[in-house]
Amino acid sequence: MNILVINCGSSSLKFSVIDTETGSDLARGLFDKLGSESPKFKMESSLLDAPQTGNLPPNGEHGAALDTLSQFLASDAVQVKIEAVGHRVVHGGERFTGACLMDDAALEVVRDCSSLAPLHNPANLLGIESSTQHFPDLPQVGVFDTAFHQTIQPEAYLYPIPMGLYREHGIRRYGFHGSSHKYVTAEAARILGKPLSETSIITAHLGNGCSAAAIENGSCVDTTMGLTPLEGLVMGTRSGDIDPGIILHLSRSLGMSIEEIDTTLNKKSGLLGLSEMSNDMRTLRQAAAEGNEAAKLAVTIFTRRLAKSLAALRATLGECDALIFTGGIGENDSNAREETLARLAHLGIEIDAEANQNAGRDNQGIISKPNSPVKAIVIQTNEELMIARETEQVVGNL
Ligand code: ADP
Repeated sequence: MNILVINCGSSSLKFSVIDTETGSDLARGLFDKLGSESPKFKMESSLLDAPQTGNLPPNGEHGAALDTLSQFLASDAVQVKIEAVGHRVVHGGERFTGACLMDDAALEVVRDCSSLAPLHNPANLLGIESSTQHFPDLPQVGVFDTAFHQTIQPEAYLYPIPMGLYREHGIRRYGFHGSSHKYVTAEAARILGKPLSETSIITAHLGNGCSAAAIENGSCVDTTMGLTPLEGLVMGTRSGDIDPGIILHLSRSLGMSIEEIDTTLNKKSGLLGLSEMSNDMRTLRQAAAEGNEAAKLAVTIFTRRLAKSLAALRATLGECDALIFTGGIGENDSNAREETLARLAHLGIEIDAEANQNAGRDNQGIISKPNSPVKAIVIQTNEELMIARETEQVVGNL
């Protein structure tokens, strides 16, 4: 089945068309700077020699992007027939434990969840509404970043704050990157040769955003991201865990506004804040190799905190078969994997240095020694394929 997968940000729309039978993408592209003076696009198809690039009319938004996208897909040169649309939706609250058809009732719930993800859910809704207008005869399915984590029990999702804040305002751990954690969990079971229901692992998704999850017998039992995607690991520009008292101090003693604190912790912290140079791991590795001390320290803090969080997640599991590395850093940065695993030998993971050096985005596989009690595995994530597969499943059940 050919599924159009749409991932909307507030000023962007990323898409791919996935053939779920082969897992290959038939077309893909990005609309960027939506709502600005000159929104741009780049669209590619396996049938075209070169990508199509151009500008939308000034101030063009998600609707204009879908006009251009639907014409592209229907054009003589591309001619991709779509059978359903799968939308990435960031926050599904406690209501969505899996993907579902975006009917009026489901849209209402996503709207309700907007207060929990004010930057993401409104953009996701815009994408669903525009897509429904452009493809009125196709099923529109929502796939939620939070859904995979809905198996987490109260002992792991409740914060030690007054219970009324949970009961009345839904303040709890939700977790994100669900499509990625779910995808690599299924892949890990396949690589380990075990049924999913008997596979227990820790997954580390390390991209611009980073999160780790503990999976017991195929179900998520804990994760590092929380009410929002700000909690947990050090990320490109997000702080991850900090003393909540820092926020009070920034406000009371330094007079920073909530907006300034928000921008500081979400956009100016993490690798960027520490290095005062870049949020990009490749740039920092290069600078560190040239002797830049701030870059070295930023990377050390990243891997040290990562190892600490992974060890904490291990404590939430009974058995653990493997630790999975995925995402741009997890798949490509062999040094980050080595530095992290050097701190985790006590968990029974014995790294195979050569296998680790050779592993990468196009060469996934086991990077621990054959007799290592707990395996370490590099797996290339594929969130779009996961969204397409879940969409197909929902459509198949209609
Ligand atoms: P997103 O979360 O936006 O999908 P990615 O999963 O592509 O991002 O991850 C982006 C991160 O991966 C960046 O920090 C980038 O520097 C890092 N990365 C990509 N390739 C490499 C590489 N070869 N070595 C080290 N880091 C890399």
